[in-house]
Amino acid sequence: MEKTELICIKCPVGCMLSVTVQEDGTWEVKGNSCGRGEEYAHKELTNPTRIVTTTVRVRGGRQAVVPVKTRYDIPKGKVMECMEALREVEVAAPVFLGAVILSDAAGTGVDVVATKSVERSDID
Ligand code: SF4
Repeated sequence: MEKTELICIKCPVGCMLSVTVQEDGTWEVKGNSCGRGEEYAHKELTNPTRIVTTTVRVRGGRQAVVPVKTRYDIPKGKVMECMEALREVEVAAPVFLGAVILSDAAGTGVDVVATKSVERSDID
């Protein structure tokens, strides 16, 4: 019998989950206040994924950076590789909301997109 403690991150409540895996492979999740907690525990222990959010440098824009995020979750083990790739990226203004900033982030097949527009600095 294997026991793991997790904090559910599916909503701001942050329930403390206690997951017990029996010898026969069955699971028991305790501490969740709703069904999403059990789903989260299963996913976290079998195939953990994350949305990556950060900022990327903008050249010639009204703001020096633009906020970006992966369009979908990517494997947790690819998050650092994705962050490192984004550190090297600089985009030219204007940047439009939803524009692809980095395609196929860390070989995951998931694009990183802008979550805000940034106008050129020479436009009033
Ligand atoms: S178990 Fe439900 S209520 Fe608790 S943190 Fe997760 S989503 Fe929120």
